[in-house]
Formats: sequence, C-alpha cells, structure tokens
Amino acid sequence: MNLIGLDAAALERFFAEHDEKPFRARQVLHWIHQRGETDFARMSDLAKALREKLATVARIDAPVIVGDTTAEDGTRKWLLKVDDANAVEAVFIPEVNRGTLCVSSQAGCVLDCAFCSTGKQGFNRNLSTAEIIGQLWLANRLLEGERPVSNVVMMGMGEPLLNLDNVIAALRLMLDDNAYGLSRRRVTVSTSGVIPGMDQLRDECPVALAVSLHAPNDELRDRLVPVNRKYPLRALIAACNRYLERAPRDFVTFEYVMLEGVNDSDQHARELLGIAARVRCKFNLIPFNPFPRSEFRRSEGERIRRFAEILQRGGLTVTTRKTRGDDIAAACGQLAGDVADRTRRSALYRLKEVRA
Ligand code: SAH
Ligand code: SF4
Repeated sequence: MNLIGLDAAALERFFAEHDEKPFRARQVLHWIHQRGETDFARMSDLAKALREKLATVARIDAPVIVGDTTAEDGTRKWLLKVDDANAVEAVFIPEVNRGTLCVSSQAGCVLDCAFCSTGKQGFNRNLSTAEIIGQLWLANRLLEGERPVSNVVMMGMGEPLLNLDNVIAALRLMLDDNAYGLSRRRVTVSTSGVIPGMDQLRDECPVALAVSLHAPNDELRDRLVPVNRKYPLRALIAACNRYLERAPRDFVTFEYVMLEGVNDSDQHARELLGIAARVRCKFNLIPFNPFPRSEFRRSEGERIRRFAEILQRGGLTVTTRKTRGDDIAAACGQLAGDVADRTRRSALYRLKEVRA
C-alpha cells in the first residue's frame, strides 16, 4: 500500500485493518507530508515493531521526476513519470508573497477544447490520489524555504471533475492541518463545466472554484469547449449558483482565454455582462498561449485592455493573467507531458494537419 495517497480517513482505516490505533494516522501524515519522510525506520515516535511492520506492508512513493526546467522568470516545470507510458507536468509559479503550484489530475484529457494542448494529446487515464498529492509533496521537498507552496490550483493537465474521487482525497490532504494545512481559499479547482462534478465537490469538499467560460453564448462555446453541448450555459450558471451556497469565496472566477478574432470583440464583452448579472463572479482573462500546431492567435494587448475595460465599466472585477513560463512551455494550456493517447485523437490531429 502506498501511504502517500491516503487521506486521514483512509489512513485510519489502514491502521484499523492492521490492529493499530487510529491516532497513528495523524503521526504518519506528519511524517510523510510535513517532514517529507519516506523511510519508516526514521519515524521515531512510532514503536519499533510498528516501523518494521510498516516497512513490510507499506511504502511511500511519489512520481519519478524525469524533467526539471526553470524559465527565465523563475517558473519551474517538472515532468513526472507516472508509469511506463505516461508522464504529466506540474508547474511552480513563484510570486512576491506566494508560491502557486499548478497540479495535473489526468494523463491527457477527453474534453478536447479547441485551444488546449493537453486536449490535443488525447487521453490515457486518471491519476491516482498518490500521483496527484505526490506533485505537491515533491514540490515542497524540491523548493527552497519553509512551506514554499502557499497556493494550489488544479489547472494542470486534465479535467479534475472527471477524476473526482481521487481529486477529493488529494484536496482533503491539502487542507488537513496534519498534512499541508492550506486554507480552502488557497486551493482552487478549475473546471470546463462538468456539472455533476461541481455539485459533488460542493457537497464533499468545497474549495475555491474557477470555471473555464471562454465564450458568452452557447453557439460559440459549443465550438471552443465541446462539453458545453452536454452542459450548456444556462445549466452551468445554475450550477455555479448552487456551488456558491457552500463555497469558501463568494464568487466564482470565470477564466476567459483571449483568442484573436474569435471571442474577443466588444460585442462578446457586452454579452458577458449579461452572464455576469446572473452569478457573482470575477473575470480572469488569459492571453492565449500558442503550442505546436495550434490554430489560434493571441489577442493583441490593446484588444485585451479594451475588452477588460468594457467588463470593468459594467461593474466587474477583471484581472489579466500574466503569462508565466512560456519559454519552457509551462504556461496555461501548453502542458502536454507525454501521454499514450488511447482516444487516437493525436493521430487524427496529425492527419488534419497533413490535409491542411
Ligand atoms: N480542465 C480544466 C483545468 C485545466 S486547464 C479546465 O479546463 O478548466 C486551466 C486553464 O487554462 C483553463 O481555463 C483552460 O481553458 C486554459 N487554457 C487551455 N489552453 C490554453 C491556451 N492554449 N492558452 C491559454 N489558456 C489555456
Ligand atoms: Fe481538458 Fe481543460 Fe484542456 Fe479543455 S482546457 S481540453 S477541459 S484540460
């Protein structure tokens, strides 16, 4: 059993099954997640017999680092091997008063948003809880300083709400005072709008929520974010409002990727005000980050400023995300890892390119 992926409740069950006291869970959480210990022999407050037993029935394993790159602006990207066929990426973004880790939840993604490199890789599998929390465990070990990661965003590869059980167990570890002790407001799940997952997250482990909106109407959103055909805007907004009843913040963050000539006109901005009137929200504009073979262009700076201004004049809080780490393909939407595509989408994608 790999103990790194067990949250407090699962670890207590593990000890119960081995006829041990439940409070051992708390001790072991400390050792694994706060002290970064992987060797049971060094867990000095456990009885020697227990340490020896653990060494035979359990292990503490994080994903293996196969790439480690630092961008000019200090953004750091790790490529993590999760099995013989797949590797995923995690990105650390240092800022003045905080350090944010961007965590992956799946090897690839089935949802195939038009502008996303991960989507173009196809999909292989869900990450386990151990593989998800292992990214935070590794970052804390590899980075300088005490508790270098102050914020976590589930914005790496994959759609977290399509791997919700494993994601929720990982979130619980992030929040647990015996493990990482992050506040709910400092942990953000980003979704392209998987409504049943939003409701489950709200009921089981509400954290800050970001929703990838990217279009102000169903016609355009159907094209850019195909999951919209299943969960259209009206239902998405209702789900956001349900989520807010339990959320740690009183707004959702709408992410909006700025694609030149596609979703960035004044008219689109005005349409967005109509959506914003129906749910408490803030906007985060993301300049599109290109990747090999991407078919979109980034809106120009002046266009983004004008777009933001219309939203602001309409009374909204708007931020424009600073592009970080794009020289090492670590920026939003550029994470591709190394995914053994089982949807055969990457082959189709190459074919399309040949025909074009
Ligand atoms: N699957 C989740 C979380 C991962 S993506 C989701 O879609 O929300 C994190 C954010 O990056 C999302 O808002 C996503 O739409 C955005 N994104 C994807 N590709 C991008 C690109 N090429 N440039 C800029 N942002 C992108
Ligand atoms: Fe998947 Fe998110 Fe990329 Fe869409 S933007 S393909 S949901 S990872």
